[in-house]
Amino acid sequence: DEVLRVVARRLVALSTPNTLIARLGGDEFTVVVSGNIPSDQSTVLANRIIAALRQPIVVQDREFLIGASIGIANYPEHGNTLSQLLVAADNAMYEAKKRGKGTSFTFNDCLHKRLNQVVTLEKRLQNALRQDELCVYYQPKHRTQDGQHVGFEALVRWQSPDYGLLLPAAFIDIATRTRLIEALTAVVLKKTQQHRQHWVTAGLSPGRIAINVPEIMLIKDLSESEAGQLMLEDVDLKSWLDIEVTENVLLNRDEATVERNLSQLADRGIGIHLDDFGTGYASLTHLRAFPWTALKIDRSFIKDALLDQQAASIIKAMIQLSKDMGRAVVGEGVETPAQLSFLRNQDCDVVQGYFFSRPLAPENIPEYLAAQHSQHTAVIRPLKTVVSSSLQSSYHHPS
Ligand code: C2E
Ligand code: MG
Repeated sequence: DEVLRVVARRLVALSTPNTLIARLGGDEFTVVVSGNIPSDQSTVLANRIIAALRQPIVVQDREFLIGASIGIANYPEHGNTLSQLLVAADNAMYEAKKRGKGTSFTFNDCLHKRLNQVVTLEKRLQNALRQDELCVYYQPKHRTQDGQHVGFEALVRWQSPDYGLLLPAAFIDIATRTRLIEALTAVVLKKTQQHRQHWVTAGLSPGRIAINVPEIMLIKDLSESEAGQLMLEDVDLKSWLDIEVTENVLLNRDEATVERNLSQLADRGIGIHLDDFGTGYASLTHLRAFPWTALKIDRSFIKDALLDQQAASIIKAMIQLSKDMGRAVVGEGVETPAQLSFLRNQDCDVVQGYFFSRPLAPENIPEYLAAQHSQHTAVIRPLKTVVSSSLQSSYHHPS
């Protein structure tokens, strides 16, 4: 609070009679300068503010070093109403932050275009959820030792009438920022449930299926989201559902809630897989604090496994670590036979990647499963029986 007061005083010290200063929330301040001033004057003022806030702040004998990023919007070029100007300034501020701390950025046409695209995309995605345009593809997972199919990862796709088939990279970010991700996760879970039921009824064995679960669902009560509620209530899920969470989720400030939610799911027999492991900021301590059943080695390590000794060492260590803790390991992004045989030599349990298959549309799954079944019953039956008992238990429910 004291730091905020000092910041406010420094802003006031720089203001003229036609300046209004407000703190709209958190650590964000808004400075409104009215009157007919040339637009380059706003950059001059922004730089003065940045310089003033760069000076150390002393509170109770402790020195605080802070910085500021400033977004600038000018009337009337960047908006006619107060809210338009605030949105423009806000977006310019995020652009300033992206370009490095302690800078200012003035809203421009390019940003305007991007902002419009985001707003349009958000509306279309909202519409896509209503019109049932989201679909789920499934990427197979295989047992490393003998290639036996063990399950799938469910991956969302958007079949847009305007843009064609879109990959998650085009819309997951916006879904996450606008919280549409919660509705999206519910759609993915329900569709996966329906597809799986369909395959099982047809006499096929799809194995365990993983869905990606976003942070927002795990930092509040699970019952507050549709997918979370389903996971708590539907006892059938325990026989086949895994969730994939990125390690950054474990870093959340509300660790206790995340831990409680994951424990609740783990207690119900739902597998917890740590996705993209080793690429974020989580610490090894989290591996002790949270319940998890499998660790997914990120594609970036596998890609370099045979080119770079360090990537290979990291993979070996991850596998060793998981094994010692009695959990399973999934290698992601396996594209070549050499990568597969490296992982096999390291005793990685499960693999997933283009070497086996790209994500498949649901209608192609029966054919895929039937082919897997005939291949394995014909060729690898003896090995399958030996390996499956030990793997099955560690992949599904580690001790
Ligand atoms: P992820 O969870 O790490 O999923 C794996 C991604 O790697 C998928 O991309 C998959 O197609 C791709 N991949 C698999 N094998 C290979 C390979 O051998 N080589 C290469 N180069 N890539 C491979 P996709 O489907 O584009 O998904 C990207 C990301 O979007 C996912 O990464 C996940 O973080 C997110 N995502 C996908 N579906 C959902 C969803 O339903 N909910 C949420 N919250 N996120 C999702
Ligand atoms: Mg994943």
